[in-house]
Amino acid sequence: MSNTERTFIAIKPDGVQRGLISEIIDRFERKGYKLAAMKILTPSKEIAEKHYAEHADKPMFAGLVEFVTSGPMVAMIWEGRDAVRGGRRLIGSTNPAESPLGSIRGDLCVDTKRNVVHGSDSVESAAREIALWFAPWEIVE
Ligand code: ADP
Ligand code: MG
Repeated sequence: MSNTERTFIAIKPDGVQRGLISEIIDRFERKGYKLAAMKILTPSKEIAEKHYAEHADKPMFAGLVEFVTSGPMVAMIWEGRDAVRGGRRLIGSTNPAESPLGSIRGDLCVDTKRNVVHGSDSVESAAREIALWFAPWEIVE
């Protein structure tokens, strides 16, 4: 069954620095999703640690937090039918080498850490991430 969902998508500091904001937004728009919220910010350490809490006990955690707090990110909510799974398909796999050509990571990056974009991996993660990054009044109905 397909549902109208919201997903949290963020363009990471490497994507912003490389001038890929419009390219990434374009792909979500062309697919048919609706932009429900968007802002640019350099995340605090606190928000970055909460965002990646599931990875807190991994060796990569400190470097990951340092990376995502290193510069501005574009935080967005995209809405539409099966937006969570569909957003992950637009993004591709975590490792760009395993991402199909045509996906954002498959087309636009080579590094597993600097992989341009974040997307929620489940409806539950999406709800948690949206509540972490956005206040209700920042989201359009
Ligand atoms: P995804 O972003 O595809 O959901 P994960 O949740 O597994 O991937 O990891 C979160 C982020 O941590 C990745 O997007 C990537 O930036 C970074 N990362 C994941 N695995 C590695 C790794 N082996 N080495 C360095 N960074 C990694
Ligand atoms: Mg993840």
